[in-house]
Amino acid sequence: MSVRQQYLQALGVDLWVPRALPHPFTPLIPVPAPAPAPLAPVVQSLESTWQALQAEVRGCKRCGLCQSRTQTVFGVGNRRAELMVIGEAPGQDEDAQGEPFVGRAGQLLNSMLRAMGHPRETVYIANILKCRPPNNRNPNPTEVASCLPYLQQQIDLVQPRLILAVGGIAAQNLLATEESVGRLRGHVHRLGERATPLIVTYHPAYLLRSPGEKRKVWTDLKCARAELARARGH
Ligand code: URA
Repeated sequence: MSVRQQYLQALGVDLWVPRALPHPFTPLIPVPAPAPAPLAPVVQSLESTWQALQAEVRGCKRCGLCQSRTQTVFGVGNRRAELMVIGEAPGQDEDAQGEPFVGRAGQLLNSMLRAMGHPRETVYIANILKCRPPNNRNPNPTEVASCLPYLQQQIDLVQPRLILAVGGIAAQNLLATEESVGRLRGHVHRLGERATPLIVTYHPAYLLRSPGEKRKVWTDLKCARAELARARGH
């Protein structure tokens, strides 16, 4: 059974299994891959903007978290993604590895993304904070105010069609509200000048503690998938 099917089954969703899959098309003669085209100037300048931003984050000392971090956790994934996932802050595993969502919550996030048809490698993943708060405490307002401009630039560079905010800290700081996730989910919010659609769902770490909420998350993911299709004009 595929991971998606396992995830859906864990959510209690009925599965449709196709009777037989068509044979994949295999070319008889291997087709050589085309030589990569030289980067156009606009692509080059985008790349250098990313590199400059990443370097700035790496050396950031805007708040006290620079003293306790092992390393910054910039963000990862497809820089031209349709879907951008935004979480709270690095935890212990992320601080050690320098990549967001690599611990247990990350494994569950990967399953959720695969189940909705947008596997991890196709999306861009970042957090409200680039540094781990000691003992995984909630980010404080000074830390958020210092760090949010970096995330804002990442959003502007990726220009996703949809943002999925996972957990209350992400949703509340992006939408500048104190409403609970329970009240924020079930709506398509709009973010920034581009009015990017934003959907809120529970944080995978919360789901690990409260697996009974998985069904609600699946509803949110289906809504996100439908919104993405709408944004594509399908
Ligand atoms: N939780 C988050 O919100 N982000 C991570 O990167 C890891 C865990």
